[in-house]
Amino acid sequence: MTATVLDGNRIASEIRAEVTAEVKALVSSGMRPGLAVVLVGNNPASEIYVRGKVKSSEEVGLYSEKHTPPADVTTTELLALVEDLNRRDEIDGILVQLPLPPQVDSKKILMAVDPAKDVDGFHPMNVGFLSTQRPGLVPCTPGGVMEMLRRSNIKIDGQDAVVVGRSDIVGKPMAMLLMNANATVTVCHSKTLDLPGVCRRADILVAAIGRAGMVTRDFVKPGATVIDVGMNKITDRAEFERFFRGQEKREQAFARNGSTLIGDVHPEVAEVAGALTPVPGGVGPLTIAMLMANTVRAAKLRRATAVPVG
Ligand code: NAP
Repeated sequence: MTATVLDGNRIASEIRAEVTAEVKALVSSGMRPGLAVVLVGNNPASEIYVRGKVKSSEEVGLYSEKHTPPADVTTTELLALVEDLNRRDEIDGILVQLPLPPQVDSKKILMAVDPAKDVDGFHPMNVGFLSTQRPGLVPCTPGGVMEMLRRSNIKIDGQDAVVVGRSDIVGKPMAMLLMNANATVTVCHSKTLDLPGVCRRADILVAAIGRAGMVTRDFVKPGATVIDVGMNKITDRAEFERFFRGQEKREQAFARNGSTLIGDVHPEVAEVAGALTPVPGGVGPLTIAMLMANTVRAAKLRRATAVPVG
């Protein structure tokens, strides 16, 4: 069997087109949703992510602005910025790019973001809305995975789903979304016993671990849907060879860039899975598309009511 490739770029552009149409309709009724992105310091990876988010906001017609406090900003100064963004009516979404520098109390900052503007879905109030199935803002990456499954007509209801990873930003909300969609969900982590055996029970297997190619074919039930959230950069030639020997396109890219991206899922899984997300071009593009969708959703919810409760 060769797995069907679940094309994240295609689905992300579908979502972006829908968001663009929604923004157009809102603008013609006098409301342009606005997104504020806060980027502290000069973390190169964060700079790339933020550039992508701002560019995408402009493409779908959102108002967007970027705030760039210096790397030595204090918690108090950052709180003042967040409070100012909370107060401004034309700002519907606030995204504080993580990680924040060590002197900043990240939890305090995320807690200070108005839950109605929390387009990352990290505020405990939105976490609570998700776990009690109330309308709120859902974290972009797991939200994107759900869109990927639904738009690819993959059955969720009644299926066994296994999520490897229990982080607040991916694993936990992913498990909650799958459970809310009536899957029977198991969550695994670094202390799970017989991880391959547990994963082999999955009809839907989500890997959100952060370890290059860890999920090998013996983790996968034949025909299962495998969602690879992991994004790991490989620079070591021997490691590259271990995963991608003989793959001409990858070879050329590696020779050119000196690195390549690999997920948490080993490429050999394509021979066993029924459907599989590639890396790059799978879950990654959906994350930004969902941020756009969340900003429009926040605008609609917030400008109708003060807090996103249904
Ligand atoms: P994280 O906070 O580091 O969490 C990793 C999780 O994996 C933890 O729950 C950890 O278990 C578990 N884990 C680590 N080693 C394991 C092992 N050997 N066996 C079983 N479980 C293990 O990472 P994250 O923020 O959730 O991100 C996960 C991956 O997704 C990363 O590669 C990240 O770059 C990627 N990511 C991609 C996107 C995207 O847009 N595509 C967005 C966000 C994240 P413990 O809890 O026991 O430590």
